[in-house]
Amino acid sequence: MRQIIEQLTIHEAHGLLKSRQLSSVELTKACLERISQVDAQVRAIITVTEELALQQARQADERNAAGDITPLSGIPVMVKDVICTRGVRTTCGSKILENFIPPYNATVIEKLNDGGAVIIGKANMDEFAMGSSTENSAFFPTHNPWDTSRVPGGSSGGSAAAVAAGETVFALGSDTGGSIRQPAGFCSVVGLKPTYGRVSRFGLVAFASSLDQIGPLTQDVTDSALVLNAIAGHDPRDSTSMPHPAPDYTRCLTGDIKGMRIGIPKEYFVAGMSPDVAAAVKTAIGKLEELGASIDWDVSLPSTPYALAVYYIIAPSEASANLARYDGVKYGFSYSADTMWDSMEKTRRYGFGAEVKRRIMLGTYALSAGYYDAYYLKAQKVRTLIRREFDAAFEKYDALVTPTSPTVPFRIGEKVDDPLQMYLADVCTLPVNIAGLPAVSLPAGFADGLPIGMQIIGKPFAEETILKIAHAYEQSTDWHKQKPNI
Ligand code: GLN
Repeated sequence: MRQIIEQLTIHEAHGLLKSRQLSSVELTKACLERISQVDAQVRAIITVTEELALQQARQADERNAAGDITPLSGIPVMVKDVICTRGVRTTCGSKILENFIPPYNATVIEKLNDGGAVIIGKANMDEFAMGSSTENSAFFPTHNPWDTSRVPGGSSGGSAAAVAAGETVFALGSDTGGSIRQPAGFCSVVGLKPTYGRVSRFGLVAFASSLDQIGPLTQDVTDSALVLNAIAGHDPRDSTSMPHPAPDYTRCLTGDIKGMRIGIPKEYFVAGMSPDVAAAVKTAIGKLEELGASIDWDVSLPSTPYALAVYYIIAPSEASANLARYDGVKYGFSYSADTMWDSMEKTRRYGFGAEVKRRIMLGTYALSAGYYDAYYLKAQKVRTLIRREFDAAFEKYDALVTPTSPTVPFRIGEKVDDPLQMYLADVCTLPVNIAGLPAVSLPAGFADGLPIGMQIIGKPFAEETILKIAHAYEQSTDWHKQKPNI
């Protein structure tokens, strides 16, 4: 049973909880046990919230005994440490927030609490979600459970690794340019970035406000739909959250994708892409065709090559403004010096890591008088072009399919001194955030035992469509059932 408990999906655990073959306390203890067995190797977690988890598990068991059970009741979740949890340290992977305890919950946490989920810990991440490998955490790097000498991807690397290693049943991450999907691909789990505005950002510590979005990391597509059901919807506390009604996302999981039109944008099979990744994703697309989808292999989104440059102007610009609030007065770490200016400067000098400083400098430069028109304004114009190309493609196709990232997980240390190489890890995921679209990454095979992810992109608010395709594919393979040997 031990082995089985660790690998239960949300829907499997729910069945056992409902029929009282398993209690939430047992499930939570199994995850805590697993954490104590493997986290010394994986290092996915910054804070384990054991006491809170057991208390929430007992409550869930009581509610269940009274006949009150919903799909996430009693199920352990690991939350990326960029999402505010009342009374629980929320570090953003940064020294500057090392001891910050939020006085409020993010809306997604309120929603998970209402749904009876059990918060088991806060996951490691790249500092302020800037990175693609979780090596930019101010505390320690996370290791990929499939090969601990390799990165789990980032910036939600802790969340993805914790799900893959069985330390939690599911996790929440955030995605600004790929940070849910890329680590999902690297760890062979399912990662969904919802449409911009689908999930409230209230209580998500801001990196780049026009790009950030919270989403689930889960073991399969059904779980992804279940978590989206719990967290999607309008929030008056987030003025960018959209009023569109949120459907029951599990209803679209029929397995039937006959006649769906899927486009394959050729620019995503970029030069320098690993041949193994390209081959695995093409095989997976062949499977979608066998399942009855009609595939157009010859789609072009010509502005795609500019997405990386656009992202690395817009995201740092927004970050430079958002991170101005860390002045040593309002939150967390504060360096005390003789003058206010000195104290502010040293708080930021010692509080922020190198990548965060790089982004603040890039962003401040791009927004400065004299350069604003040349960089920021130009980037916003190209952003519109990229979005229009997607709009045009979605007149012809229900979804677009691409690799999630150009390579399999790389070695810890391999790219950490070469920011441009690191930035390329998200070349296939960034355009999706630039256009505000939903996309899911799901397991699509392995090369030498290392995971490969496939990305399915949909039109705005078409999460149902991409989940439907993802689910149909998943049912025809067993990639998602393979677990790392750790
Ligand atoms: N890797 C990208 C970056 O460093 C994306 C990060 C993210 O999605 N949070 O900005």
